[in-house]
Amino acid sequence: MWVLWTILGILGVFLIVTLVRAAFWKPEAVNSEPLPEEAVDVEKYRRDLSDAIKIKTISNVDIEKVDWDAFQQLHALFRERFPLVFENLQCEDISLASLLFTWEGTDPNLEPIALLAHQDVVPVAAGTEGDWTHPPFDGVDDGEFIWGRGALDMKNHLIAVLESVESLLAEGFRPTRTVYLCFGHDEEIVAAKTSGAGSIAETLQARGVHLDSVIDEGGAILNLNAGRILNKKLAGVGIAEKGYADYRVSVKAKGGHSSQPPAHTALGEIADVIHDLEAHPFKATMPAFVYELFTKIGKNVSYPARLVTCNLWLFKPLITAIMKRIPPAASLIHTTTAVTMAEGSPAANVLPQTASVTVNFRMMPGTTIQNVEEHIRACVRNKAIGVEYLKGKEASKISPTDSRSFKILETLCTRTNPDMLVAPYLVMGGTDAYHYEEVCDCIYRFSPFVMDTALLLTTHGTNERLPIVCMGDALRFFKRYIRMMSAE
Ligand SMILES: [Zn+2]
Repeated sequence: MWVLWTILGILGVFLIVTLVRAAFWKPEAVNSEPLPEEAVDVEKYRRDLSDAIKIKTISNVDIEKVDWDAFQQLHALFRERFPLVFENLQCEDISLASLLFTWEGTDPNLEPIALLAHQDVVPVAAGTEGDWTHPPFDGVDDGEFIWGRGALDMKNHLIAVLESVESLLAEGFRPTRTVYLCFGHDEEIVAAKTSGAGSIAETLQARGVHLDSVIDEGGAILNLNAGRILNKKLAGVGIAEKGYADYRVSVKAKGGHSSQPPAHTALGEIADVIHDLEAHPFKATMPAFVYELFTKIGKNVSYPARLVTCNLWLFKPLITAIMKRIPPAASLIHTTTAVTMAEGSPAANVLPQTASVTVNFRMMPGTTIQNVEEHIRACVRNKAIGVEYLKGKEASKISPTDSRSFKILETLCTRTNPDMLVAPYLVMGGTDAYHYEEVCDCIYRFSPFVMDTALLLTTHGTNERLPIVCMGDALRFFKRYIRMMSAE
């Protein structure tokens, strides 16, 4: 009997603790004092972005296939639209079509900051051109959206940075810290061996530059509308990005004519390999920043969801277990495995002499390319497999959330809109910022554009478009960021 009472007693204590924590755990007080007004010219930004989208700066793994004239045209557009930038900043051509602008600060003792953006865009998938409401390279401005490839990734951000600097120059502003504008030309080439961003970072490193902070794409401001539970905007600031690795796993067999097959062909054996890989996902753990993300959101949700989110210490295993079953959530807490390509014999009546699958892994910070190979060898029962590393890049380091620049990002967001939650985030794809780890410890991936998740998903897809309503705030954001980083 005492066992039952003990269990009930423990449960009771847990219940009281969770209720008390939920009741007293209030959202952190945020600085919501309105910021001084900032003059912005949204009409000009609309025209410039629309014209930038018309220039097809599509990158390609094969540099022979890149239309380099397009990049020259984009640079010419920059010269025409941002004369003060070219007059006051030093502009250098780096690598094939990257640009490095240096805006000299008044105090050489302060560490410089860098604003990154890439000039290239992904192509439109063949056969989908007709699905677009407005053609992808017409830069149509219909009064509600700017349509086209690059409207979200990331000519919007690139042009916003230039507009903001041009505008600050027109007002006679001069930064105390040196400001670098670093515009790569081939960000969309996954795991490229050489890259424009890499060359810019090497140039800075060779000059002995160490940056205070870097801002690049990767996070956005999402509308969180979960009925009565939560109604906020979430500014996800990417403080790290996942690694990437492609491996080919193969098995060999005798081959021969398909009229006399063995019980399992090489492709049959490969099916077992696929099964083993999918049956043994990487272990899920909740990293500190995911915990921080949930805590931030959790303090702002209403009952009864609040009971769980305010007691993560207790519910962490449960939440992790639930997240594992939801692919977008699962990708935040473990290294993912995706078997994407398979190859067998070249003809229907030929037994394969070798069969293979290509597997794409996205690693959590802390899991290396080498760890992935060890994982493959450990979980596949067939020890005669061949494991070939194709390409990849390690996961990034994790940037701190207590740095000056992170705090400024946070203040800027909450002072623009007190309903905004700012939280660290893990970026799934790669960004140019990855190349700056040697010259900077505080790398933040964040685009100050407010949107719905559905719209964000048009990135790299059909009908990519930017809501015009969010353009003014983006300009104000960059102007204020440069001012605030200069003031401290
Ligand atoms: Zn991008």
